[in-house]
Amino acid sequence: MNERRPTRQISIGNDHTGVVRVGGDAPVAVQTMTAGYTYEIDACVAEINRMAEAGADIVRVAVPQRKDTEALKEILDQTSVPIVADVHFHYKRALEAIEAGIHKIRLNPGNISDRDQVNSVIDACAERGIPIRVGVNEGSIIERKDKALRQEELGKFFADRRQGHLIALMIAKLEEYMEIFEQRNFHDVCISAKSMDPRLVIDVYREISKRFDYPLHLGVTHAGPKETGTIRSVVALGTLLATGIGDTIRISYANDPVYEVEDGLEMLYCLGLRERRGVELIACPTCGRIQVDLFELVQNVRKKLEAEIELPIKVAVMGCIVNGPGEAEGADVAVFAGDRRGIIYVQGERVANVPEEEILDRLLEECINFEARVRSGEVTLGEKSVEIKPPDPIGELGSGIEKIEAGQVEQLTIRKS
Ligand code: SF4
Repeated sequence: MNERRPTRQISIGNDHTGVVRVGGDAPVAVQTMTAGYTYEIDACVAEINRMAEAGADIVRVAVPQRKDTEALKEILDQTSVPIVADVHFHYKRALEAIEAGIHKIRLNPGNISDRDQVNSVIDACAERGIPIRVGVNEGSIIERKDKALRQEELGKFFADRRQGHLIALMIAKLEEYMEIFEQRNFHDVCISAKSMDPRLVIDVYREISKRFDYPLHLGVTHAGPKETGTIRSVVALGTLLATGIGDTIRISYANDPVYEVEDGLEMLYCLGLRERRGVELIACPTCGRIQVDLFELVQNVRKKLEAEIELPIKVAVMGCIVNGPGEAEGADVAVFAGDRRGIIYVQGERVANVPEEEILDRLLEECINFEARVRSGEVTLGEKSVEIKPPDPIGELGSGIEKIEAGQVEQLTIRKS
């Protein structure tokens, strides 16, 4: 992992929502966007609150119509997470959202034709200390009123796979946009440059990070259904984050946005960029040694622990006692299944041996008790790990430790590029 790229910092929110900082030394923020209509106030509030409950730091809403911005005040009153108004084409929606007390604006200056209109939004944001995300998408790099000509010109880039040209054009567009903001001495800005192609996303953000010190909002646009969108997003965003690029992320799926939040957070936990909230679950993929229905057990354990446990307890659900112990090393609580039973360990101590149908309840009970002991200070997370000695390695290979001790394994130096 590389050090995070130093950037400016922007602040989103107020006393009511709490302030989320993006960029600089702030943790990478997770955001998502509502899927319903903003003007349907009750449904919109419920959706935003569900997202906040799942861990979203920032939520974006679309405001294509006057009735959407009219709904904002009530929505802001009934929610407690910073909200971004997503504005396309109609600068007045931005002004109305600012008037309603919105916490951030998302703007693509390219689809607002009049420069004075863009300036009026920038000035209104400057007056109230509201940041703006300036976004360029691969689909919006060619701006023409003649839609047929625009499609034709845009199509050429994709048909020829001229990725280098596309990146150059996206950067040029962004530079053009940023000049507008810099001319007005407005620096409360976050930048995004999205594409549906993860390789392009990686390349374009790398280029942007060399040219600008504004915080970067990462995302793969139109990533598709959750099943494939996860891979697209993790490939692009994970690669960038691992090289220190990115200050806030939005994963986008054609699915319930709560998944976007959950998966975004999990990615940040895996990269060590956020402190984990809730259980870290390890589970084996199963093999021919399995003797319980592990897939169902793991799903049930995940749901139960998600609902009941707040601390980042490491829990392992392993299919057998052969490889399980080694693979569950470091777990605070672990169950090793076998012969239609489960043996449960809590920080190295064997606490139960129960039939398959009792594993879920007993494991949950042990996790709840363990969490209470951590909270009372009796034990510490990760203090003692599960320790069951697996069978000694046999044959010529021996164990890795023996090789290290015999000086047969050289220490690797990890180079940061
Ligand atoms: S823990 Fe046991 S059942 Fe699970 S994959 Fe490893 S060897 Fe197979």
